[in-house]
Amino acid sequence: MGKLYNALTIDCQKCCGLCCIALYCTKTDGFPYDKVAGTPCKNLLSDFRCHSHHELIERKLKGCLSYDCFGAGQKVTQIIYKGEDWRKSPHCREQMFKVFHIVTQLHQMLWYLLETYRMSNNQKMQEDIRTLIRKNEHMTTLSPNEILMLDIESYRKSVNTILKSINTSQPKKVDYMGKNFKRANLDGKDFSMSFLIMANLEGCSLKGTNFLGADLRDTNIQNTDLSESIFLTQMQVNAARGNKATQLPKHLTKPTTW
Ligand code: SF4
Ligand code: SF4
Repeated sequence: MGKLYNALTIDCQKCCGLCCIALYCTKTDGFPYDKVAGTPCKNLLSDFRCHSHHELIERKLKGCLSYDCFGAGQKVTQIIYKGEDWRKSPHCREQMFKVFHIVTQLHQMLWYLLETYRMSNNQKMQEDIRTLIRKNEHMTTLSPNEILMLDIESYRKSVNTILKSINTSQPKKVDYMGKNFKRANLDGKDFSMSFLIMANLEGCSLKGTNFLGADLRDTNIQNTDLSESIFLTQMQVNAARGNKATQLPKHLTKPTTW
């Protein structure tokens, strides 16, 4: 499964800057200015590097710093479009952006399936997950036209059924914005879909704590061990405030800004 996790790690050098053109961005979400989907960011250079890369931290462009496509960018550029890009092939750019949106969702679902597989010790469930993973791998190597025809909602339902069998409680979307949990024992707590914006989790015990879909923008995770927390994604980690002492699950990496 390690190889699959690696494929979900972004490799922007192998991508044609898809997030910097295909996405709708707003200044309030930490992007340099408001822009509509399908228009390249003014800072996107001709070789797809970011002109403002060196000053993203200084300018507090948290949207740019935290965005993570689960490796969809390089998959779409290198595998699905075989190295084509939207500048060289303007006729396929709209299609490419749609494909990017679909593959991002599929890669996100793949991430959650891998996480569920890691936690499960039920053989039947593991076999069901392996089947869904194989299907996912197959779908993200189809041709662009075939990807656009996929019944992604039906696949999502199957993934959600698996996720629900691990997450037996109903996500409550609790608002913990700014709450101070410092050094609390939160082992096994279900934070799924909750708002933890600017909450303080410093020094908390977070074994088996569920962060599925939780909003961790500016959440303080300095000096905190999250290595056994579950359903954390790279984007959540990128959006939070950690430091060198923060510990993460094996397949996530510390942002260079910490
Ligand atoms: S789409 Fe993904 S791989 Fe491409 S530049 Fe954006 S984050 Fe990097
Ligand atoms: S500022 Fe850079 S990283 Fe942010 S959207 Fe523009 S090109 Fe992309």
